[in-house]
Amino acid sequence: MADIRLVKRVQWGANPTQTPASRDIDPSRGGVTVHYEGTRLGDYPHSRCDDLVRGIQRFHIDGRGWADIAYSACVCRHGHTYEGRWLNHRTAANGTTPANDSWYAVCALVGPGDTLTDELLHGIRATVEYFWERGARRRVNGHRDHFSTDCPGDALYSWVRRGMPVAPVSPPDPDPVRRLCVLGTPSSELQPVAAGATESVEYRVEHLDPDGMHSANGSSIRPKTPGDYSIWARVTLDGLRRGDRVRLRFSRHDTAGGFIEELHGEERVGHGATLHTGLHTIDRIPADRMIRFQIVNPNPYEVTVRESQFRLAR
Ligand SMILES: [Zn+2]
Ligand SMILES: [Zn+2]
Repeated sequence: MADIRLVKRVQWGANPTQTPASRDIDPSRGGVTVHYEGTRLGDYPHSRCDDLVRGIQRFHIDGRGWADIAYSACVCRHGHTYEGRWLNHRTAANGTTPANDSWYAVCALVGPGDTLTDELLHGIRATVEYFWERGARRRVNGHRDHFSTDCPGDALYSWVRRGMPVAPVSPPDPDPVRRLCVLGTPSSELQPVAAGATESVEYRVEHLDPDGMHSANGSSIRPKTPGDYSIWARVTLDGLRRGDRVRLRFSRHDTAGGFIEELHGEERVGHGATLHTGLHTIDRIPADRMIRFQIVNPNPYEVTVRESQFRLAR
C-alpha cells in the first residue's frame, strides 16, 4: 500500500468550488503525469505549504478561469500530499484533451533549481502508486511527454524516467501543522453584514474540533490553553462594490462574548465581483479568551458572506 501523508482539502483550506470539475476521466487508459510548480520556491517551511496550495488554487480559478485547482494532487518538499481534484476527476493540468481525459496529474511544489528532497520524491512516488492502486494504468510520465513544456524540469523528469528511485526516509509527522479547530459555514447559508455594521461570522460546520474549542454560540473559538496560535480565516464576499473597502479582523472576547479588542485586522478592496479573500496572523491568546472572525462594513449598503472557514492551528 502506498504510504501517503494526506492533507485533505478542508485541512489546507481549499475554496469549495462553485462548479465542480468534470468526473469524466478514464485513468485506466492513461496513467499518472508528474508536474512541478515551475517557479523557484526555495527552502520553504511546512507552515507555508497550505498557503502555497491555496495560492495555486486561487490562480487556477481566478486567473485561469478553471473549475478548480488543475492538479489531482500536490506534494510539498516535506513529503505531504495535498488533495487536489483527487480521484475520479478529470484534470486541467496535462496540456491536451486526451491527456486530461485519461491521466491523473501530480504536482511537485518545486521549481527550477530547487532541491528535490528525499521526502518530496518519496511523497510523489507514494502518490503515483496510490493512484495506480485505485484504477490508474501503471504508467508514469512527465508533463513534457504530452505537451511542449519544460515541466516537470530536467531533474525531476529524469528521476521519473529512471523509475522513481527513492532513498528510505522516516515517515513525516502525520500533521506537523497542528490544526486544532477548523470550522466552516453551510453552503446554503448566506450571512448579511448590514450597512455600517460589524458582524461575527457564524460557523455551524465543525470540520475538525477534537477538543471542543468551538463555542456553542457558533462564532467563537476558545483555546484550551493560553499561547501563540496561528489564526486563519477565509471568506467569500458578495456585494462589495469596486473601490470600496471592508475590514476583516480577528477579535478577542471574554467568555461571555463581550468584545475586548481587535487582535489583527486588514482592509480589503472590492473589485466589483465576488471577492475571495482571507486573513492570517500568529498571535497570543491569553487564558479565558475567545476569538472571532469579523467583517466590518463601513459602506452604506449590505454585503453578504457566502462562505467562510475559520481555523486555529499551532
Ligand atoms: Zn506541468
Ligand atoms: Zn510541506
